[in-house]
Amino acid sequence: MILVTGNGLLGSQFDDCIHLSSKSCDMRRQKKVEHWFEDYRPTHVIHTAAKVGGLGANMFNQAEFFYDNIMINTNIIEACRKYGVKRACFFLSTCVFPDKVEYPLTEEKIHLGPSHPSNYGYSEAKRAAEVMVRAYNKQYGLEYFCVIPCNVYGPNDNFSIDNGHVIPSLIRKCDLAKKNNTPLEIWGDGSPKREFIYSKDLAKYTKRILFDTNFTGNVIISNPEEYSIRQVVRNIVTLMDFKGEVIYKTDKPNGQLRKPSSIAKLESILEEQIVDEDGRCDGKMTNLWDGLEETIEWYYANYNRLRI
Ligand code: GDP
Repeated sequence: MILVTGNGLLGSQFDDCIHLSSKSCDMRRQKKVEHWFEDYRPTHVIHTAAKVGGLGANMFNQAEFFYDNIMINTNIIEACRKYGVKRACFFLSTCVFPDKVEYPLTEEKIHLGPSHPSNYGYSEAKRAAEVMVRAYNKQYGLEYFCVIPCNVYGPNDNFSIDNGHVIPSLIRKCDLAKKNNTPLEIWGDGSPKREFIYSKDLAKYTKRILFDTNFTGNVIISNPEEYSIRQVVRNIVTLMDFKGEVIYKTDKPNGQLRKPSSIAKLESILEEQIVDEDGRCDGKMTNLWDGLEETIEWYYANYNRLRI
């Protein structure tokens, strides 16, 4: 039986599994988590549940992001060991990498320097999960692994203006600007670059490696095509048919300027080429335009039950 923790942006992309949501179990409490594992006895675990948010949420809630994530991860990893879970997958994020590091990001560079000051609470809690998984594998002979995705987007995301990640926040802001006839305000100068993976692609590749016992440790799963925030804005504005003014608020933070990653390890595990010579993943991953189009469609279709 596969247990998926979390039922949001990523967790909801795994079907034929049992879902443990934060509504049914406060995963920060060890007893509650263990009670749940005792009842269901999963053989495999995909741990997506986390306290997450965009740049704004991270900057102003460092303590909460640290506490919630370190408690949730510690309880889930220990419960996996205690209840004999065979193989488990834990999600980190490319923000676990040092702020100053040689690009592209690869799996062995996580601990080579301090994380970016904008999200150290979240990042250090996730780094600790990586250490814990590594130690548990070694001491208890387990086969657990961590997936490091780039910026994930798709249906079921949190579309909050203040706390969401850049794509859902901009979709929400663009919708409101259009309705209220006001300018669309973007944080920063639009120059930072990000890699974006559609949630369905991340779930697809995670499922493919979940049962592959040839590796443990860490693997980056990203779509390594980089887009500037300005390009993302242009796509969203076109897709949502927004004709008003777009303002770049340079008094708001840019965050990290880039975090390009390598998926060479994923390709070697799968024995398959995903990125072509031009650095594109056509046919292997959803391109940004198509992913945005589907996400925006989902946004309007689910307007009355959005997380905002
Ligand atoms: P990150 O990839 O972990 O840094 O997190 P985000 O998904 O929050 O992306 C942050 C990047 O998008 C930064 O360069 C921000 O300056 C830029 N950005 C522009 N407008 C927004 C917005 O409305 N919300 C967020 N979260 N980021 C924005």
